[in-house]
Amino acid sequence: MLKGKTALVTGSTSGIGLGIAKALAEQGANIVLNGFGDVDGPKAEITALGVKVAYHGADMSKPGEIEEMMRFAAAEFGQVDILVNNAGIQHVARIENFPAEKWDAIIAINLSSAFHATRLALPAMQAADNGKGWGRIINLASVHGLVGSAEKSAYVAAKHGIVGLTKVTALENATSGVTCNAICPGWVLTPLVQKQVDARAAEGGISNEAAKQQLLGEKEPSMQFTTPEELGALAVFFCSPAGANIRGVAWNMDGGWTAQ
Ligand code: NAD
Repeated sequence: MLKGKTALVTGSTSGIGLGIAKALAEQGANIVLNGFGDVDGPKAEITALGVKVAYHGADMSKPGEIEEMMRFAAAEFGQVDILVNNAGIQHVARIENFPAEKWDAIIAINLSSAFHATRLALPAMQAADNGKGWGRIINLASVHGLVGSAEKSAYVAAKHGIVGLTKVTALENATSGVTCNAICPGWVLTPLVQKQVDARAAEGGISNEAAKQQLLGEKEPSMQFTTPEELGALAVFFCSPAGANIRGVAWNMDGGWTAQ
């Protein structure tokens, strides 16, 4: 379905970003990976799906590096048709103890990076399909783009911000073939959440499994983690012809978290 398209997924060396990159590659899209840590493993997994893959190591807290990454993607594959703004970090502390530099880093990586990548991707998307436009921008928000939780001030602020950015991006392109939507997962058992499980297990002197059940029990009625594969399938749906008029939604996949 996406053969000939190029998808750039930020923060795709791990977790949800990698899951979404693989789902888009399974549909035939060429992939630009980004993120830190092991690159060879994710590259090999995508290549095995029979598409082309490139990698750029831009630090998403740095607008200049984001510009380089967008130029690199255009040079490698012609243009970016699908942009998934996924890179994100977390820090957990009460506001009075929240390090100011962590606030700045979370706003830069979880929110401002999406603005920069979006503003740089839009002109080519708007010009595609003989000027009618074709593009898909998918922002990884969170249930924390819809509701708050204690000790996550920067994350909740950034995720509410990205839901707002999603709506404005969708509205400014509403008469074209460029759509923008947000995905709002509940708990997904990636390295980002495993750190919170580990902290809870250590603080409570409980097992890892008990900490996971506690985490789910507080917020997620399904008592199940959402998987990167499920989120990948939702991203594919947004990219499908059926997704052409879905504009500016914040679509939760959260086991009932925000239904309460
Ligand atoms: P993860 O830690 O597994 O992956 C994060 C990715 O971002 C990695 O590839 C990492 O290298 C990359 N990254 C981090 N800082 C970066 C930077 N400065 N520049 C470039 N890349 C950087 O996390 P995840 O759980 O897969 O999270 C992905 C997204 O999903 C985040 O935006 C997160 O807020 C969101 N999310 C996660 C959950 C969850 O439960 N895991 C729930 C809701 C939303």
